[in-house]
Amino acid sequence: MKMQNFKTMSCTKTKFATKDFAEFSLKKIAKTNTKVKPIRSYYCEECKCWHLTKNVDSKDYSKLIQENKTLKTTIIKLNEQIKLLEKTDTSQKIIAQLNKQLEEAKNRPSKADNVQARADERVIELKKQLKSKQRESKN
Ligand SMILES: [Zn+2]
Repeated sequence: MKMQNFKTMSCTKTKFATKDFAEFSLKKIAKTNTKVKPIRSYYCEECKCWHLTKNVDSKDYSKLIQENKTLKTTIIKLNEQIKLLEKTDTSQKIIAQLNKQLEEAKNRPSKADNVQARADERVIELKKQLKSKQRESKN
């Protein structure tokens, strides 16, 4: 007696001659109210037929887990790159703004002088206020 025949005898699941028949049955069952439904078809080496199973393919499952891990790592890396790009972009904007201000200051020295003068006035004013406060605290 060949091992092949013995195994074929032991295969009790519903047999489908082709993948198409198995898939057709799978779709039909999916529409029913059956609680436990098969999710995929697979080729059986024992009876050389197709069966249905509710179990996730272990190879697919571990592959999915690996893909998920890779995806998570990719997301983290992308977020880091986005942050770096944002920083760079902001820096570039600030530099551009500063260059613009510098150009304006060069082209309009009178206005720049005016700003400097006002700043000086403000410093003098603050020094005055500070002196008066110091006097107040002494008295
Ligand atoms: Zn089988």
